[in-house]
Formats: sequence, structure tokens, C-alpha cells
Amino acid sequence: MSTTALQLTTLVDDLPGVDVQTARDLHAMEKRCVADLLLHLPMRYDRMRHGRTVAQLHDIAEHGSLPREIVELTGELLSVRPGFQRRTPTEAVLDDGTGAITLTFFNQPWMARKLEAGRTVTATGEPRLHRGSLQMTNPKIGWEDASPLLKALEGETANGVELEPVYSATETVPSRVLAAVIGAVLQPATALLEDHLTDAFRAERNLVDLAAAYRTLHRPQHEDDIGPARRRLAFDELLLLQLGVAMRKHHRERTLEAPSLDVTPEIVSRIEARLPFPLTTAQDRVLGEIAEDLARSVPMNRLLQGDVGSGKTAVAVAAMLLAVATDAQAVLVAPTELLAEQHMKTICSMLDDSKVRFELLTGSTKPATRRVLLERLREGEIDILVGTHALFSEGVVFNHLALAVIDEQHRFGVHQRAQLRDKGAGEHDRPHQLVMTATPIPRTLSVSWFGDLNVSIIDEQPPGRQGIRTRHVSRRDVAEVYAHLAERAGRGEQAWIVVPVIDESAAGLTDLLSHLEFLRQGPLRNLRLDAMHGRLSSEERDDIMVRFHAGELDALVCTTVIEVGVDVANATMIVIENADRFGLAQLHQLRGRVGRGDKPGLCVLVAELGSEDGQARIDAMVETNDGFRIAERDLHIRGVGELFGTKQSGMPPFRVADLQRDLDLLRMARTDAFAMIEADPALLLPEHALLQRRLFKAHGQWMGLGDVG
Ligand code: ADP
Ligand code: MG
Repeated sequence: MSTTALQLTTLVDDLPGVDVQTARDLHAMEKRCVADLLLHLPMRYDRMRHGRTVAQLHDIAEHGSLPREIVELTGELLSVRPGFQRRTPTEAVLDDGTGAITLTFFNQPWMARKLEAGRTVTATGEPRLHRGSLQMTNPKIGWEDASPLLKALEGETANGVELEPVYSATETVPSRVLAAVIGAVLQPATALLEDHLTDAFRAERNLVDLAAAYRTLHRPQHEDDIGPARRRLAFDELLLLQLGVAMRKHHRERTLEAPSLDVTPEIVSRIEARLPFPLTTAQDRVLGEIAEDLARSVPMNRLLQGDVGSGKTAVAVAAMLLAVATDAQAVLVAPTELLAEQHMKTICSMLDDSKVRFELLTGSTKPATRRVLLERLREGEIDILVGTHALFSEGVVFNHLALAVIDEQHRFGVHQRAQLRDKGAGEHDRPHQLVMTATPIPRTLSVSWFGDLNVSIIDEQPPGRQGIRTRHVSRRDVAEVYAHLAERAGRGEQAWIVVPVIDESAAGLTDLLSHLEFLRQGPLRNLRLDAMHGRLSSEERDDIMVRFHAGELDALVCTTVIEVGVDVANATMIVIENADRFGLAQLHQLRGRVGRGDKPGLCVLVAELGSEDGQARIDAMVETNDGFRIAERDLHIRGVGELFGTKQSGMPPFRVADLQRDLDLLRMARTDAFAMIEADPALLLPEHALLQRRLFKAHGQWMGLGDVG
């Protein structure tokens, strides 16, 4: 160690006992400095029992059952029997001088090469009694000639440790090395931690202090201490997130300004009368909520949730017409060109004989067309612009943009949405924003997560829907499925056939190209088929969709490019191959492609059930059509992070908090965060300085807090 005192920024290279190779390996794991080490929390704890012998274990097993604990046995390997492929494990017998125990190694073929009779090793694992003899399955093996570093460090820290922290590790830096390195700096490093919560604040909420929380989680003295330590760090994560949310909301409501539109009830009725169908009660209510927002000068930030087919697009179009009716511009952004074009057609059909001027702008708009279009947009000669993310680019300047509608928001990152927001006229001017999502977010979570969004829900399907039946079918019955599909085609109905991959890269999966061939040769040989996937150009895809829409194709074999929003009312059946490979939300989206017209829909999930998760998803699909229930299930199966696409949003994953388990903690954090921001909107008070720094470090960038605080 260098002569300077330990800092949180001290590099791992400078820590006692860390040799050059270990330092290099730690850097490769992105554990560069002391702070990185502190933040690397154990995944779990093993109950370690020191000083056990094989004779004792025999004794315990004879008089009762072996407790669930990890023991460490050092001794000589008496014999080694290599395993055979996957089925039979490698076995070795270890004698610690008091008796013998069998070590079994599954799926570790290299073990047979490393283990040698006569060698002395240490085996760490949980002993079990198997058919009357003592066994340890997949024990960790320590070699007599193990790195002196590990031995030295272990000598210092492992003594008397009953709960051994288990860290996520790599082959080169095993958990025990991490435990040793972290253990060696834990006291001095945590002593450097400054708590961003005051004693009084913590006392009121029964939260342990920051240093103690880290010390406990890395080296718990008692099992009972782990919960409170975890709770403190989980609270911190939730508090920081909620502070960001509260700060953004405060900023939007107090600093930013949107055009307040003169939307009268008369205008709303006039627009509704223009639509080709009467709005459902739910649509009508939501449009009312939007109209109210548009009339205010606080920028609307509204999430429009509705199950697939519930008529969100119709509401969005009506909302845009409200803006246009007050002489403002509106924009609708879709995640794919296909959807943008479809929205364009919907608008076309709704605005048949009106004076509303609308245009489409996507990545494939020709440069010359684009130039003219942008010029007209700037001059205010376009009322509604529809497009893809091409709209986010710099050159797109509106004349007086009042409303931005974003379809299927989970496909866009927060950054992109921010870019769109900046298309208002002045620094503090923002368009009203409506975000539509067909991935219903469980009610309990939407508010806490997207805390600065208001939520509107369409919880009703348009009249006349015949519903969708969902069936699970195994591979061997697939012939019947396609026979039924052919029969429907004979009645003039159309079908989607979805496969997980384009070509046969992944073993065991049905791929698009060979499946198309198979269907053409066999069960669907008399039908008009085509294929659609992401590798086709947008012109090719467009052409296929036009033909499918026009009924010139009976069935379309495709990948998930059709996942969101595509609307072909005459398609009544969807077959999803390898359905267990898709996520639940995705399956529900796919199913929503049928049952959109007045004929009942049929969704067939073809899957061999292997995994538990796969089974759970298929069961959920068969049991319910309700998107909200599906979403709740999805949450259970997948966890929150994935559901919200946090990777795309740029939100850092929680290390400790778990929104399912910590809902109460979340409520508390939310209340606290909003109170703090109310009192100190940018966290500028001295007592908030540390909190503010940590907030900006955690969420500043992805939440765009820079221009807020
Ligand atoms: P979503 O975007 O929510 O999936 P859409 O807006 O695409 O749903 O609507 C699905 C279908 O239902 C479209 O064909 C649309 O024209 C139709 N639709 C929407 N609202 C109504 C309504 N109130 N009455 C009848 N049909 C409707
Ligand atoms: Mg839609």
C-alpha cells in the first residue's frame, strides 16, 4: 500500500495484498477502486460452519439429519473416477483423517483432469446424506498450492465468520477473493462514507446509517442485521429515483410552458362527430382528460394506456385534431415505418374531405420531398406530421407545435422524447405530450415509476368485438392447426404465422425461411403465402402489407416485426411457433393482431413446454385476455426492470431495491422525495448538497436533470 491514506477513489492496484494479476482481473470486472468494491454487494450468504470433521458429520447424520450449512474439509483424495459426458458425474473420495466423503461434480468435465488421487485439497460445500453415504455435490475446491494472496487474506478475515458473503464473481476472481479483498478495506473504507440522510431523518424512519449498512451487508455478524441494512440501501435507491421524478415534475409544472389551447366543449363535440364511429365511453372520457390538459399552460405529460385494439390511435387522432382546430400543429411519432404509414392511412380515412393538412416523414422520405416538407412545416403549412424517429432530427422545425403524440413509448428512450420536447418555440416552451402504450403497466407501479406522468386508461374495447380464443398446441398436433387455418382461408379469412427467427441459426427453433417452404410444400400448398421480416427493405415490407391488407394474401409468415399496432381487421387467426420463446407482453401484443374486426379471433400457441417460465407464460395467455392481468403476471415472471425496458431508457438498474418486494418502502421514499422537492426544488440547501450530488450522479443524465436543477 502506498503511504497516502485510503480513499474511496484508491485504485485496487494499491490495496494490500492485491497482486498485479488480481488487480488486472478486478479492472476487467469494472472494480477499479475502493468505492466500486463497496458497491459490489453479495448476492447471498452461505452459513459456514468451521471446524467440522467427516467423523462428526457421520455422527450427526446417524442421530438425526444434517443441518443446512457449508463446511470446509481438508484432506487427501483417495480416488478419482472421471464422469462420462453429462449423465454421470465425476466422483472423488476425500479423506480428512477422520473418515471419507464422496465429492460429486456435475457438468465440470475439467475436474477429472485437475483432481488427482494422492493430492491434498480443501472441499467447501454442503454435505448431504445420499443412499447412506456422505456426499458433497459440486463443492468448491481449494488447492494446497492456492495463491498465497488468498491464503494470507483469508487468514485475516475468514476467522470465525459464520455467514460467508457470496459475490457474483468471475473465473479469475472467485467470490472468496472478492470477499477477502473487500474484507480487508471494509472498516477504513466505510469510515469514509458520508451519510446523505441526517440522524433525525433516519431515526424517524428507522433507517440504519450508510456505513453500518455497507459493513453489515459485506460482513454480517448476525442474520437479523441483513434485512435492515438492505432496507436502508433500497430506500436510498428509491429515494434518489423519486427525487429525480419529483424534480422533473416540479420543473415542468413551475418553469415550463406549453401553449394553452382554446379547446371548448363545442370543438370536442365537433371533432368527435368527424370520426367514422362514435367513441366508446372510455375513449370519450380520456379525450376529455386530454382536452382539459391542452387548455392549461402547464405542459401535459400524459400516458395513455389501453389494451391492444382498445382504440388509442383514434383518441390520439382526435386529440391532434383538437390542436389543429385551435390553429396549432401536432406530431405523431411511431416506432416503425410500418406503423407510421398505418397511422397515416388511418388519419387519411378519418380526414377524408377535410382541410387538415397532414404529411408523412420517415427515414425513407426522398431528400427533395423532405426539403419541401420541412419548409412547409416551418411555415406552418402542415397541421399534422406523422413519422418515425426521423422526426427527432435537428432539421425538423415546427412553426407552432402544440401536441406531440408518441406511440408505443417503450420503444423510445427518454433522450429521444426529450429531443422532441425541445421542439417548442423558446427555451421554456414545450409542446403538450401524450405517450401511448399498449404494454399495460400494472396500476400499482405506473404512478410510482413514471411518477411525473398523468395516466389515462382505456379499459373498454370498441363494440362488436367477438373476442379471441387462445389455445396451446404441441408440435405433434400442428398439422391440425394448419388444416384449420386452410379451412378459414377458404372462408375468406386471413392469418398471421409468427416464428421466432429468420434463418436456422438457433438450434431447435422454427425459422421463417424453412417454415415458409414447409407450409408451401405441405399444409398450406393451395394458399397464397408470403413472408415478412426485418431484413426486407421498407418498400418490400410495404408492398407485402398492402397486398395483405387488400386480401391478396391468405397468410403471412413473419417475425415479430408485426408485433405492435398493425391493424388488419380481416386477419382472424394467428399461429405463434415456439411460443414459449416469446415474452408474455410480446405474446399478448401478437395476439392483439387478431380479433380486431367483427369476427372472433383465434390465437394458437405452438410450444413444447420445457421451462417453468415458458409454461407460466403460456398458462397466463390461455387463462386471460386482459392486458392488465397479463402485465401483472409478466411482472412476476420477469421482474420490473425488463418490463419497463430500463436498458433502453438508460435507467441504471437497482442494485438492492425490488419494486415488488419494496412497495411500502417506495411509498415512503416517494412521500419524502416530493416533500423535499416542494421545500427545496433544486436541492440547493446546504443540508441537501450531498443528496443532490448523489442524485445527479445516479440519474442526472438519463433523466435529463441537468436542465432542471
Ligand atoms: P390501439 O391503437 O389501441 O391498438 P386502434 O386505435 O388501432 O387500437 O383501434 C383498433 C381498431 O378499432 C381500429 O380498426 C379502429 O378503427 C377501431 N376502433 C377504434 N375505436 C373504435 C370505436 N369507438 N368504435 C369502433 N371501432 C373503433
Ligand atoms: Mg395502436
